[in-house]
Amino acid sequence: MGNATQESEAGRQAAGTWRHRPAAQQPDWPDRAHLGAVVRRLSLAPPLVFAAECETLRRRMASVARGEAVLLQGGDCAETFARTTTESIRGKLKTLLQMAVVLTHAAALPIVKVGRMAGQYAKPRSRAAEERGGTVLPVYRGDAVNGPEFTAEARRPDPERLRLMYEHSAMTLNLIRALTTGGFADLRRVHTWNQGFVAGSPSGERYERLAEEIERSLAFMHACGAGTRGLDTAEFFVSHEGLLLEYEAALTRVEPGTDRAYATSGHMLWIGERTRDLDGAHIEFFSRVANPIAVKLGPATGADEVMGLLDRLDPAREPGRLTLVVRAGAERVRDVLPTLVAKLQAEGAQVGWVCDPMHGNTITAASGHKTRRFDAVMDEVRGFFEVHRALGSHPGGIHVELTGDDVTECVGGGHEVRPEHLHHRYETACDPRLNHTQSLDLAFLLAEMYRE
Ligand code: PEP
Ligand code: MN
Repeated sequence: MGNATQESEAGRQAAGTWRHRPAAQQPDWPDRAHLGAVVRRLSLAPPLVFAAECETLRRRMASVARGEAVLLQGGDCAETFARTTTESIRGKLKTLLQMAVVLTHAAALPIVKVGRMAGQYAKPRSRAAEERGGTVLPVYRGDAVNGPEFTAEARRPDPERLRLMYEHSAMTLNLIRALTTGGFADLRRVHTWNQGFVAGSPSGERYERLAEEIERSLAFMHACGAGTRGLDTAEFFVSHEGLLLEYEAALTRVEPGTDRAYATSGHMLWIGERTRDLDGAHIEFFSRVANPIAVKLGPATGADEVMGLLDRLDPAREPGRLTLVVRAGAERVRDVLPTLVAKLQAEGAQVGWVCDPMHGNTITAASGHKTRRFDAVMDEVRGFFEVHRALGSHPGGIHVELTGDDVTECVGGGHEVRPEHLHHRYETACDPRLNHTQSLDLAFLLAEMYRE
């Protein structure tokens, strides 16, 4: 087969060696022939992202690891095909751009902006099946696999959905590329990103004042004849959990003239808490591609395990290759993180340390909604900072689940969502997200920590 992934040794390895390892969290595809046909088509499709872009992000992540930049990574827990809309994509992008402005202003460091977007369609689940009223069906594993409706038909894994994942990623990425380079992300429009959002929220008003300050500074620079080149576009990358290995392998391409294979489904891919087994298929697959890679670390992670991840995923100790995303929970982060940071420091390993303050703080409200308390989210971020400040390491940034919409999924925040509000706009396809206001609240609080 002359397809691009198999032209070289690197390609052959990236496409195949993971198949000899146990792959956790893969769907039980009922029709393997159909899956094979979809995967073959995807292996001939154009890449969604390009090797040079992945290398640019790797350099940015190297700056994060050195303490010279900050990562801001965010988006839905699970994107859905139904919400591949201009409004939804633009809302998330605006939210991230606003947060980045707040953080840049405070930290006086470059903010590396990465969406959990254009590919975040597959979810690891804690159970394979779900029971309702005596009926047992496979769980919803994200739009890339099956549908959320509780019917046998919807829950049947359908390989056609992998093709749709590629298409919806392409549509989303196309809009992101247009918005970030076509004028929408121009820093001189810092005010307009807030429109429609400000009403009544303290952070929205605080953002208005900051935007005025920035506009005055830009006008000042302009009046002085200082160039403001480069401010009219925003550098923005996309990322998702690299969960479905058939899909990731099908989109892997060897960069011509090199022996480096890239997963071209997104710039940065991360390996989840449930799929990071050192001997498993995910670690094997991602050890063969050259993208910047992140790994989620839960509260039970040991220092030797982290060293194992480093040896498997970053044996050459390439700056920016590996980012560790800690999601220990507000109550555990202060106990768990110091050992890990100290161990990597002792080994002289340079990695990016990022805080995911969402996944260790999920609770069930009395109403039955899965939710997160904004205070717990902030407490985990604070704990993350305390540990890094104490050890002299760099708090490299945050990884959060958010949306630009005014949803009511997490409780608390300056424009308080109370438990009894949860049912108003509970729209997530999986985990509860910060709404637009809560995201800005988080950015302002984070800004204070970077300033300290
Ligand atoms: C997620 O990021 O949505 C997720 C499932 O995270 P984790 O692997 O950390 O549980
Ligand atoms: Mn999630």
